[in-house]
Amino acid sequence: MNSKNAMKKSPKVVIIGAGIAGVGAAGKLVKQGFTDIQIIEASSQPGGRIRGSPFGKSVVDEGAQYIHGASMKNPIFQLAKEHGLLQQEHNSSDPEWSVFTNTQKQLDPDFTEQMKNLASSILRRAHLLAQEKGYTQAKSLADVYLEEVKKLLLQWSGENVDLRRQKLGVLSMSMKWQCIHLATNGLGEVSVHEYEEYKSIEGDDRNFQGLFPSLLQKLLEIIPREKLLLEKPVKQILWNGSFESEDGSLYPVRVVCEDGDHILADHVIVTVSLGCLKANCQSLFRPSLPEQKLHAIQNMGFGTMNKIYLEYEDPFWDENVDIIGLVWEDETPLSGQKPNLIEWWRRVPVIYVFRPTERYGHVLVGTISGKEAEFIESLSPEEVASNFTKLLRQFTGRPSLPAPKNVFVTKWFSNSYTRGSYSHISINSTGDMIDTLAEPLPQTAEGTSSPMLQVLFAGEATHRSYHSTTHGALLSGQREADRLIDHYSTK
Ligand SMILES: Cc1cc2nc3c(=O)[nH]c(=O)nc-3n(C[C@H](O)[C@H](O)[C@H](O)COP(=O)(O)OP(=O)(O)OC[C@H]3O[C@@H](n4cnc5c(N)ncnc54)[C@H](O)[C@@H]3O)c2cc1C
Repeated sequence: MNSKNAMKKSPKVVIIGAGIAGVGAAGKLVKQGFTDIQIIEASSQPGGRIRGSPFGKSVVDEGAQYIHGASMKNPIFQLAKEHGLLQQEHNSSDPEWSVFTNTQKQLDPDFTEQMKNLASSILRRAHLLAQEKGYTQAKSLADVYLEEVKKLLLQWSGENVDLRRQKLGVLSMSMKWQCIHLATNGLGEVSVHEYEEYKSIEGDDRNFQGLFPSLLQKLLEIIPREKLLLEKPVKQILWNGSFESEDGSLYPVRVVCEDGDHILADHVIVTVSLGCLKANCQSLFRPSLPEQKLHAIQNMGFGTMNKIYLEYEDPFWDENVDIIGLVWEDETPLSGQKPNLIEWWRRVPVIYVFRPTERYGHVLVGTISGKEAEFIESLSPEEVASNFTKLLRQFTGRPSLPAPKNVFVTKWFSNSYTRGSYSHISINSTGDMIDTLAEPLPQTAEGTSSPMLQVLFAGEATHRSYHSTTHGALLSGQREADRLIDHYSTK
């Protein structure tokens, strides 16, 4: 503890969850001289939604993969640079697309680029468009997007039918792709304010080999190994109490683990995902959470995005191609609003070519969101592979296109320590709810006699501007560590 922040006794801080928010919080506290900290993690390894899994010739990212906004303004980029992890980039900042239709046409790249830009500009301006239209009630991204599409349809009414179909097909592909970025079932579930609240950081989305697991290991290096307890799911957090330890000290919080162990604390930083909070908040906290916080948890958006990794003996794709786009000419953004589990593969709008080949072999990765993403977790890898092969044969018009030799599907929805992938601002929520979730307990109004900052909240879903990202998660953990540091430095 530095002299400014010297304390008689180091407060006991328990951090629930060893994802990047929990590890970020612990690192900051350790650096500041807090000695009595404990991270409690349910899984057998730290990282949470940062996880590498062996696949094919190497290890692939099940969760986070890209630095969103690769510049020194991004704390993940900064740390990765500091730790020398930015050497091996393996995606291009200007990816080469190859877009096929279900009627085996290959679309002109300039045309698809124009349509993709049109879609994204509508969504980025959605809150302004809603304002212009004088909407008073919360409107979804779909409401605005579909209205704009209807206007475009009128403008395009004199055009050739095939061209119109292709335009609408690309807009539909772009809509599904946005759903993947937002981990949602459909744009109808996402508030028009999503892109007003979420702030992009300057710089491209960049993918460096094995960056996230390596960065996590670096961040863990400064935390003494005995401070991290693995395979220890927390069952309940008893707060606003007065619990006596063996040496007679009193603590306001008791953390009860599934294995029956009890850990006393002055402060607990909860970093479990919003999916876990949604599923368990009623039983996890005693006394129960304030009404406002429960309301925020129940209404904020949290959905599933999964990845489908496919390894091939030989590539069937052009070696310059980075992304294969799949456009259904029989779809428009106005159709296909409901989940279609039977034809789940229609929800895969793009397939990425995984690079570099020397490291991974010939690997493609498809992405999928929503109910279909949840559904495929119940399918066997063989079933997924067989449907994927049919899909690719249909689009490329090559009936002999080979089947993958290896398939791996991530399962973020059925993972009971995640229960989905990441958060968004749902139609029933606002940016203010993110701040409500992030508020520590007890709230000041609840009486000054009980100790402050007993339960603090971090994790990607608690960061208003950078929710859904690793940098948001890291900053949220550091924010709660700072809250404790400030608390003790001003005491
Ligand atoms: C498929 C996918 C792709 C993504 N892609 C990107 C990307 O490209 N770029 C990017 O920046 N972000 C990406 N993200 C988001 C990013 O991974 C997350 O925002 C970030 O890792 C979340 O960190 P966290 O610490 O908030 O939560 P988590 O990583 O979920 O950590 C919470 C921890 O709490 C533990 N836990 C849960 N319940 C309990 C319990 N009862 N007791 C004890 N421990 C418990 C969990 O096991 C977990 O380790 C992606 C996420 C997914 C799922």
